[in-house]
Amino acid sequence: MNYILAIDLGATYLRLAIATCDGRIVFKVKEKVVRRGNEYTVANQIIGIYEKIREKLGKIGIGKIAIGSIGPLDMREGIILNPPNLPYGKILLKKPLEEYFKVEVIVLNDAVSAAWGEKHFGLGRNVENLAYITLSTGIGVGALVNGKLLLGKDGNAHEMGHAVVNYDSPFKCGCGKIGHWEAYASGRNIPRFAKYLAQTKFKELLNESMLRNKIVNNSLEAKDVFEAAKKKDSLALKIIDELGKVNASGFANVINAYDPELITVGGAMALNNPKELIIDPILKYLDMYVVNRIPKIEITKLGDDIVLYGAVAATINPPL
Ligand SMILES: [Zn+2]
Repeated sequence: MNYILAIDLGATYLRLAIATCDGRIVFKVKEKVVRRGNEYTVANQIIGIYEKIREKLGKIGIGKIAIGSIGPLDMREGIILNPPNLPYGKILLKKPLEEYFKVEVIVLNDAVSAAWGEKHFGLGRNVENLAYITLSTGIGVGALVNGKLLLGKDGNAHEMGHAVVNYDSPFKCGCGKIGHWEAYASGRNIPRFAKYLAQTKFKELLNESMLRNKIVNNSLEAKDVFEAAKKKDSLALKIIDELGKVNASGFANVINAYDPELITVGGAMALNNPKELIIDPILKYLDMYVVNRIPKIEITKLGDDIVLYGAVAATINPPL
């Protein structure tokens, strides 16, 4: 029997799943992405993990392979070019994996893959106009319009994490440009934004805040802000409210661009925190920025596996 090999290549983790041809995931494994090497290192790591799986499961035939990956992509060549969050100039995926496995390898952007997964296995099954937004180390978006998955000429359609939310911003994004959504509200950049707010708009709250020491020592992490907000820390709650405005403007850009019926939200930040700290602050401010009718907004039920499900869906129903 032939199985599907689904791969999720993120900035931190590499996940592999084996699925049956009807889309049931039967085995999963996760490793940190190797961050040192050359353009073949990641493909070799994938092959190494697969060989370990084969030792465990016995001989399994792989009939189809798809990867949901961080970008930017050259989708047709299956290459990642200068990813801002991994230290490689180029990562070759399609060619070395096709040579090893002797089957076609489909490569999609991870958030695009996730949207396809939501459509086939998640809340989007009966929805023709769908956007998926990941709030994680970075911010990514995938979208279906009239049932069609939007890909772009190189597979990099809607890099919406880099949508401008402030044209006159003091913050540089990881991509090098200014004022991007991700520069404020991604897991990586929340500490900088929080520190800025604590020293400007909300400075009268800093001394009383449980975040004070970490802000002063520059050791603040995004999760500290959420933990303090759960304990009703006044500064943390103000920062969460401000993030609500930034995220509302980002979500508004997505809604104004794609007119979705449903937005599902995933990514570690959205999955690990209560709705009151993620979705509610967005809903509070969304109307200030949106011109289109506001869609339903829900946390994805596919959790951490959504990109893997998208890769599985891409092998069963290729969107290309
Ligand atoms: Zn950017």
